[in-house]
Order: sequence, then structure tokens, then C-alpha cells
Amino acid sequence: MKTIQNYLNSGAVDIAPLLCLVLNKSSGELITQNDYLLTPNEKLNLDSFIKQRASGMPFSYISGKKGFYHLDFKVSPDTLIPRPETELLIDIALDLFEKNYACKMLDLGTGSGIIAITLADKKPNWQVLAIDESSAALTIAKSNDITHTVDFLQGNWFEPVANQPFDLIISNPPYIEEDDSHLDDLNFEPIRALVSGKDGLDDIKIIINQAPNQLSQKGFLLLEHGHNQQDRIVKLLTKNFTNIQTFKDYNSKNRAVLAQLKNPTTNNLNENR
Ligand code: GLN
Repeated sequence: MKTIQNYLNSGAVDIAPLLCLVLNKSSGELITQNDYLLTPNEKLNLDSFIKQRASGMPFSYISGKKGFYHLDFKVSPDTLIPRPETELLIDIALDLFEKNYACKMLDLGTGSGIIAITLADKKPNWQVLAIDESSAALTIAKSNDITHTVDFLQGNWFEPVANQPFDLIISNPPYIEEDDSHLDDLNFEPIRALVSGKDGLDDIKIIINQAPNQLSQKGFLLLEHGHNQQDRIVKLLTKNFTNIQTFKDYNSKNRAVLAQLKNPTTNNLNENR
């Protein structure tokens, strides 16, 4: 028989949150009820979670959820675990339009749906579509959309919405280089959501090339990217985009770009000069 205190003394990775999860207690209750004896069933569950966590499985895959912005999201190994730096995209998007503008927005590679669902919740008058190529990820995303405000579609990048215009396209695409050593720490997460070719830019290039056909006049493209990719992405954007703005995340790393579609008439005029 073991008490909460016995487990707290064990030094196992994330033991306090694992105890909270299995016993459905707050961290305060772990302290005030530290002589509580775990039932055989609770002990069985906890011991198995401790093993999984010690083997490197992220806590969020054990608990099955992760907080993002103002909401809680279900996650599974079919989806990336939401990162705090992705909240930057939400802050940028929320500032883009006048209060009552009914923005038509597309979230590409939605995963567990965090970007689409957070914005649809914050902006009830926006029309929000989200695409992912993984049907397993879309099942999770749909279960996270408890108010059914987002339209989820399956396909490769823009394929399911070909030639439909959007006011705002947002994506946190895969952007890690295929031989990045950082990947060793991420081997529980879906590789397709993380890695994008040799320089990590394969998918970002597809999005930047196709976005002009999918944006309304002066529409915005907002992308998350790797900390060392910003200059290359700005260069890729200059052909068809203007008002390019770059952003750092809350760790002061270059993390996002926002760009506005060039007006085609001005563009032609400039080219004819
Ligand atoms: N920011 C994540 C990481 O480096 C990667 C997310 C992504 O590729 N979109 O762990």
C-alpha cells in the first residue's frame, strides 16, 4: 500500500501532475491529503502512467489534453501538442480586422484544431474553415469543436478549397529540417506535422506559391516558422506580397510572418514601368 506522500517522494518524472490526473485531485489536495492510500486500481493506473512518462511520452499524450489560449483541447499522438508560441498567431490575427468584419478565414494543417477553434470562439461572426490531410487528426479537431462552428475538410493544403478566396490564411505547417537533432526529443509526435524536407521549407513554399490564388483582395497570409527561416520566408513572399511584417515569439525567437497580397493592378503598373 502506498500513500500520496510515498509517490511524491519517489522523484518520478511529473509525479505531482500524474497523481492529480489519476486521483482527480488538485495539487493543493495532494498536500493536504498526503496520507491518502491509493486503491489497487489507482495504483495500477498510476504505475503504468509513470512508466509511460519515464519512457519519454509527453504528459499531454497521457492526460489526453493541453491548454491553448483560453481553451482546453483534446490531443492524441495523431496530432501535434499545442505549443505556447503558436498563441502568437492568435494575437496577431485578432488585431487584423475591424470589430464587426465577417472575416472568411482558412487554417491550413489544423491538427487538433487549435487555431481555427480558438479564433472561431473569439470571433463568432468569422467564417472559419480548416483543412488537414490526416483524417485521424480531423477526428480529434472535430471533437474539440464543441459548438460546431468550424468547417473541417480533408485534403492536401488548398486542394479541398481550390480557387475559393479567403481574407485570412493562417498556417502552422511542418517546418523542421529533416536531419534536425531536436527531432530526437519529439519522437512521440506525428513526423508529418513536424518535418518538411531538407531545409524545412517544402510545405511553406507550397503555401506561399498557392496562397495568391486563394486570397481576396488585400488578403492576409500568416505563417509560423522555424527560428532561422524568417529571412528566407520574407524573400519568398516579396514577389506577390506587400506589408510584410515579422514577429518574435515570447522567447524572443523569430517565429511568424504576416503578409498582405499585393494589389494586382499596382503590381502590373510597376512591372510595366
Ligand atoms: N515549434 C515546434 C517545435 O519545434 C514545431 C512545430 C511545427 O513544425 N509546426 O517543436
